[in-house]
Formats: sequence, structure tokens, C-alpha cells
Amino acid sequence: MPSLFNMPLDRLKGIGSGRAKLYNKLGVASVGELLRLYPRTYEDWSNPCRIAEAAENTPCCIRAYIEKVSKPARVHGNLMIFKFIASDGYDNITITFFNQRYVYERLSGGGEFLFYGTVKRFFDNYEMSSPSVSNINSAGIHPVYPQTAGLTTKQIESAARQAEALLPPKMNDPIPPGILEEYGLCSLDFAIRKIHFPDSLDDVETARKRLAFEEMLILQLGMARLKRGGTRGRSVFRITKEYSEEFRALLPFSLTSAQERAIMQCISDMKDSVYPMNRLIQGDVGSGKTAVAAAVCYAAIKNGMQCAFMAPTEILAVQHYKSMSELMGNSGIRLALLTGSVTAAGKKAIYEALEKGEIDLIIGTHALISDNVCFASLGLVITDEQHRFGVKQRAALISKGANPHIMVMSATPIPRTLALMIFGDLDLSVLDELPPGRQAVETYLIDSGKRQRAFGFLKKEIDKGNRCYIVCPLVEESESELESAENYVKKLRNTVLGGFRIGLLHGKMKGSDKESVMSSFQSGMIDILVSTTVIEVGVNVPEATVMMIENADRFGLSQLHQLRGRVGRGKDKSYCILVSDNQTGNTKERLSVLCRTNDGFKIADEDLRLRGPGDFFGSRQHGLPELKIASMSSMDMIDETQAAARKILESDPELTAKEHRGLYYEIRRLFAKAGSTEQLQ
Ligand code: ADP
Ligand code: MG
Repeated sequence: MPSLFNMPLDRLKGIGSGRAKLYNKLGVASVGELLRLYPRTYEDWSNPCRIAEAAENTPCCIRAYIEKVSKPARVHGNLMIFKFIASDGYDNITITFFNQRYVYERLSGGGEFLFYGTVKRFFDNYEMSSPSVSNINSAGIHPVYPQTAGLTTKQIESAARQAEALLPPKMNDPIPPGILEEYGLCSLDFAIRKIHFPDSLDDVETARKRLAFEEMLILQLGMARLKRGGTRGRSVFRITKEYSEEFRALLPFSLTSAQERAIMQCISDMKDSVYPMNRLIQGDVGSGKTAVAAAVCYAAIKNGMQCAFMAPTEILAVQHYKSMSELMGNSGIRLALLTGSVTAAGKKAIYEALEKGEIDLIIGTHALISDNVCFASLGLVITDEQHRFGVKQRAALISKGANPHIMVMSATPIPRTLALMIFGDLDLSVLDELPPGRQAVETYLIDSGKRQRAFGFLKKEIDKGNRCYIVCPLVEESESELESAENYVKKLRNTVLGGFRIGLLHGKMKGSDKESVMSSFQSGMIDILVSTTVIEVGVNVPEATVMMIENADRFGLSQLHQLRGRVGRGKDKSYCILVSDNQTGNTKERLSVLCRTNDGFKIADEDLRLRGPGDFFGSRQHGLPELKIASMSSMDMIDETQAAARKILESDPELTAKEHRGLYYEIRRLFAKAGSTEQLQ
């Protein structure tokens, strides 16, 4: 659909420049993109059910005629209530609307209508509150779109109808016919039309499967091309002498065998291979990745290389700097910290020292990729929490050296299949063993009714001299992160925890402010740290023994596991309390996985099974296109698309064949949108 992707949205009726901006917020700038804005779900108005047979807690459609119109009632000043009794010929139902006078006017004349909503049963009475209303002749399946402030799903539906009418009679299908046939997929034409306007829910499934397949296939092909773009030359820096004994002597503990193995693998990469090291160190929180990084840096530096270590946040960079300094500070190795908060003069001094080779190990944030940073002999680049960096940022740091060795550390256990896909060009070392003496974090799932009791438990822990985290994600879109966290603290002041020292950490804070709150918590000047999710990665406070997470259902399992990893780092037994009022079957099952196991890899597998791969990449994996529809797709589909991608690339690595033009075009379009075309030549 190349031409529709060039057609601006305001060519459609009812869309001016103001409304076009709202569409932009949904990631839609052209008519083609509007057709790729898929419905979130559907309302099935095609089979009205009897009132008495409506499913519990699930919206459905009923067909009923108006029996009685109650007098409008005014409550609370401005709130108007309109009530009707309607009947489907078997049962009566009370239907209530609030403030929707136009609905009142439409229904009060009587007649038969379709109502879509949730039927609630109170003994023998049925009730429906604020259902959607339609004429009896407009049955069918209606799309429900993701909404943004100011755009209703009806408006999007009407725009999508116009867009659909503009589709050419014969659409170019990016998926070659052979693959459509092999995997039983419908045509693009059918899929695009039916995903918006299906005749049945089967149509939706058929369309969804095809579109998800296409999305995954394009992702896989694009990834494969990104990686190939990174083919690298021979290494310049080699390790000739290991210095392992010398490094071990610096450590206050002995390494686990998983750590020993990972270090050995890295050193051997940097010693023997013609090509530079390209290795992913995957280890659960607390598995001791920092010591592995330190060992490898030590060997690299002793062999004449400079090392750069980039962390995603300032807090983490500082922490790595501290632990690295503790481990190596006395060995003559020269370390420095470079973050956005360093003064201009401080930065200048660091730039000069780096360029002269007077700093051996520089630790920092994105500040490291500034143009001003030049090295004398950058031989090893380490990035922590890799999936938070864009492809470009990683490349920018690497380009500051002559083919340096690369080490990537990830604390997000990723199921093996996905790891191979996302990090397919990296060798993998897994730290599958925790240092001795660690206790599993005991985890509980509660609803908000038990919150006060939980606070009582936190109080006891703090009375013992321990510290607690409370994570409260932003829930109301209308609130700012600051407001939401501040309101939470305000409420906390009226509980048994009110007398303690409470600190506040949120994403909109300045780096230096975050730093000072974090260090107050680390040093024990704060008892309770209330935070949005900025503490997600890597922060180490051994005295913290409770992690309480509000609205836990908002997070993915892997994310929760990461948060939980902030506790259980010291000698005392630690606890994680998940608070959620969303106790529907699926959510409860998902959250209770955490109560059963502390093994990050098991949790990741479970997360993948329950939520699909969307959380593992998509929007979080910057530089890759967002998954719009495949995020719920199954492992089977990942396997299928992987096989299909391999087959295509084997026969046509450059995607120049005529039947692959469409795929090539889509890869470029989607990866360009995500900001990584440079590598995609
Ligand atoms: P992560 O893998 O989450 O980055 P860290 O490297 O921060 O883990 O290590 C967590 C804690 O465990 C640190 O306090 C570190 O000093 C300690 N540690 C690391 N390795 C060992 C070991 N082999 N024995 C004992 N403690 C260790
Ligand atoms: Mg870490």
C-alpha cells in the first residue's frame, strides 16, 4: 500500500489538522497507517442473547423494547439519572444512563433497540448501566479501537471505513504466495478489510493470524539484516596474559563456578579468537554480574586496553562506579565516572584524560557517547541492561574504539528462543547460580483490603532496623507521576507507617535529586522508599527486606521479578508483597507464579507463555519496530516465522527478488519508523 502510506490523514472526511494530531498520538500519520491501526477488541452485536442468559462480567448484546420510562432524576447537583425498564419478551431489565440526555430522548419515544453492555443480576432483577445503543437493523461486529483523549472509537471506525474504501482493488501482498500457502495464511487484502470490519469472529482470527505472521516475519528479517550489517573485522586488542590470580586476590569473596565459567569464556574470546568478543552475560538479579565485568576489565586493562562501561541510568552508573572502585581502586587502575551531572570543567578534564590514555576504566551513562569522548585505546565496551539501549547508542559507543571487544550484561532473563532472536549475533554466557547464602524472597499476593495489615508488617520490619520499598505505578493518566507518588505518600502519613522517614523517587526527578534520595535510603536516613518504577534495575541496598508493589497487575512478571530482586540482598529474610485488586483468573494465575518460584528463567518462560513476546521487545527494545498485533502471538508462530525468514534469506539474502520487494519495502518502513535504518542498508 505504498501510496496510502503517503496520503496524509486530513484527506479523509472529518479529519482536520487538529484531529490529525490526535491520530499522531496513536502513531498514525497517514491513511495507510490508519489501516494498520488495528482494533483492540470487537463488540459482537450480531447475536443478541436473552437477558437471562447473558454471561457474568462479560459485555454482550441484548435486544429489548422499552416498557417504561422513569422520570429523570437529578442527584449531586449536576448528575442526571435516566432509567428505563426494557424487556426481551421473557425478562425485564433496568437500564440506567448518566447525563446522556440525547440517549434519553432517543429511547423515551419507545421502540425496540440493541443494547451492548454488561448485564448484572441482583436476585431476580437484571440491570445494565450505560450500555451502547443501536438500531435493531445495525447488528454485526463492531471494531473497538485504542483510544486517546479526544478520539472516540466511533470516530476512528468512521475514518477506517473511508480508508478501507480507498484500498485499491488489487493490493500488493508483501508475503510471497508460496509462504501464504505453506502456512495457511489469508491475503493482505482480506486481512486488512476484515481486521476492521469482520463478518464473523472467525474472520477476525484469520486476519489476526496473517497480520501477526507478517509482523513477526518482518521483525525477524529486519533483525537478521541489522545483525549482518554489524559484521565486524579482526580484533586489534588481545589478551596475552590473564591476570586471574591477581584479580581473585582483590575479591572479598570467592567466585561462584558460574562466574568463573563466564570469566573464562570472555577471556578466551579475547585471547584466541581472530574476531573481537561479542558476548551476552545473562544472569538473574544478584547473580554477580558486576564481579564478572570487573574481572574481564581487570584483564583487559592489564593488557593495555581502555574499558568503557555504560549503564542505562545515573543511579546504576554511580553504583557500578562505587563497586568497581571498591574492587579495583587499590590496584593502581584509574577509574572515572561520567554522567550528565558532572560539571562542565569535570567533563573537560575527563575528556582530556581519556584521550591521553590516563583513565583505564570509564563508567557512565549515555554521556559516554557524546562526540567529545575520545579514547586512546578503547579495547572493551560493556553495556549493562542492554535492552534499554538503542541499536544506535550501542553502535555509537563501539565506534569510539577500533573494533573493541563487546560484552553485554542483561539481568532480564529472556527465554532462550527469544534471546537467540534478539541477541542472535552474540555468544551467550549464563550465570545460573547465585552466590552462597542467598535466601529466596518470600512472596505474597494480597488485595487492597489487606493493605493495612501489610503496612503493619512493614512497621515490624523497620522496627527491627530494616528498610522497605513501596512501588506505586502511575495509574490515573490524568495524574502526573509526581502527583501520584506524592498522593500516595500523603496517604501513607495517616497509617501506622506515618511516623517513619519516607523518601520519594519518581521518573521525572533530576538525576542529582534521584541520587541524593537513593543515597539517603542506602545510608539508612530514609526508612521507606516510595517510588514509581525508577528503581527497577540493579540498585543494591542489603538492609532492604520488604518490597511492596501496588497495582502489581500493571507489570509483566519479568519486571516484577526484577523489582523483587531489590530485596533479599543482605543477611535477613526478605519479603515481596504484591497488591492487586484485579483478581480475575488470568491475572491471579500470572501473579501467583511469582509466589511459587524465584527462578528468573522459569518466570520469563511463564511470562512468554501467558503474555506473548510483546513485552520482551517491541517498544522496550528501542530501534526495533513496535509489535502491534503479534505481541500476543504464540511460540509456534515465532518458530514458524523464524523458519520462513531463514528460508527467504537463504535464497535471497539481499531481498532483491521481485517477490520480496514488498517485504523489503515494509522492513524499511517499519525499521525507519523505529529509528534504525542506518544499519539496515
Ligand atoms: P547482579 O548480577 O544483579 O548485577 P551484583 O553484581 O550486583 O549482581 O552482585 C550482587 C551482590 O552479590 C553484590 O553485593 C556482590 O558484591 C555480591 N557478590 C557477587 N559475587 C559474589 C560471590 N561469588 N560471593 C559472594 N557475594 C558475591
Ligand atoms: Mg547489576
